[in-house]
Amino acid sequence: MSQPVVLRGGTVVTVDDAHTVLEGHDVLVVDDRIAAIGVDLEVPAGTDEIDARGGVVMPGMIDTHRHMWQTAMRGYGADWTLTQYFVWNYLDHGKKFRPEDIHAGDLLAALEAIEAGVTTCVDWSHNLQTPQHADAAVDALAAVPGRFVLAYGNIQDAPANWTANPGFRDVLERRRGDVEGFQLAFDVTGDPSFPEKPAFEVARDLGLPVTTHAGVWGATNDDGIRLMHEHGFMGPETVYVHAATLSADSYHRMAATGGSVSVSTESEQSAGQGYPPSWVLRTHAIPMSLSMDTSMWWSGDLFSAMRSTLSADRSREHLEAHAKGETVTHHALRAEHVVDMATMGGARALGRASDLGSVEVGKKADLVLIRNEHSPVGFPILSPYGHIVFQAQRGDVEAVLVDGRIVKRDHRLVGVDLAAARRTVEQTVDHLRGELGEDAWQQGMNPDIPETKVLDNPYTYTDYRSATTHGA
Ligand SMILES: [Zn+2]
Repeated sequence: MSQPVVLRGGTVVTVDDAHTVLEGHDVLVVDDRIAAIGVDLEVPAGTDEIDARGGVVMPGMIDTHRHMWQTAMRGYGADWTLTQYFVWNYLDHGKKFRPEDIHAGDLLAALEAIEAGVTTCVDWSHNLQTPQHADAAVDALAAVPGRFVLAYGNIQDAPANWTANPGFRDVLERRRGDVEGFQLAFDVTGDPSFPEKPAFEVARDLGLPVTTHAGVWGATNDDGIRLMHEHGFMGPETVYVHAATLSADSYHRMAATGGSVSVSTESEQSAGQGYPPSWVLRTHAIPMSLSMDTSMWWSGDLFSAMRSTLSADRSREHLEAHAKGETVTHHALRAEHVVDMATMGGARALGRASDLGSVEVGKKADLVLIRNEHSPVGFPILSPYGHIVFQAQRGDVEAVLVDGRIVKRDHRLVGVDLAAARRTVEQTVDHLRGELGEDAWQQGMNPDIPETKVLDNPYTYTDYRSATTHGA
């Protein structure tokens, strides 16, 4: 039994079905649950009080697709395309990751998640080359007080092979109590012989959901969706990542079988899977959650995901209208909708809508307090949903609770040895840098810039043109 906690006087963004906002309300947490929400609540003696006045209390955010093992290489691939990512991770260097490197990345990613108010995160762990790698991932996730789902995968081997390995089943059996749950993570190539079929059968046998990168330009397409559907492997628990380059037929199959899409807008905008698909998924009524994909490129917080998703959706709406000579006068997608995707959307995708994703009495106490008394952006908060999406950022997360336990307070993680995490990450970076050699290390981080030509300009007839071929 932990000490009860009350967050006093905040603006509570519940993300209940009606998207209710409660001004000046307290949220009382007893054990792992939200026990009461109200004004000037009476609380048990000895309750820990957190002042939430002037701040926003929202549900813990849920990321449904993050390759946490890659976080030790934070920012390395900022200028990559998807092709460069595949070559570096899948072909050239992914095999160089030892179990301790998986551990280092997962540990840092897990800390990064809870620090930003991401209280539940799916570790799309697709470099588990051996059961020792999987144990290392689980060890890291179990050491951090967040909720983590291990999506077990291995890009170094065919799904039919690694799912047949007794060592894989052994890990799932032994480590059941150490994570929030398991998924199977693999992609479907569209090969007409459907070589992924045995892996789907293993997932069904184990009762585990499958998560799969679908609709990724140049990698996965409509054939994969059709094969999954024709063999009966699409269900409400299936999570399609990206789903950005698919035909209406594939979206119909998804909508009809009840699965959801994990939208990674920052990733889709930069890597090239296809246009961030929320604008088209909405037209098919396909449920969505949000994700960050990988910190090798992008930020690990869902404020960025909400902001970029809303912006990309609106960009597309405007462009589609302009192409028809029309003007969008009212936005269909609202700030509250992307907050819902970042919270309840994730809960629904993970089959946890009954106990995660909103601030309601009886639900698990996964809570985020957004408040920054030292920032001029902290006030006024006129539209709480708008504030979360376009004003707030991870540095404004003052407090985080997971399962009723305070894991961040006064803008600092509680009881975390960040120096130890830093040391293990440094060892991983040293190892990989040594294995690659300095030339390959630098080349990997600094891909060639293609030649770009500035268009001829009829209004300039001087020498300026000769100086205009590169970069700036
Ligand atoms: Zn991914």
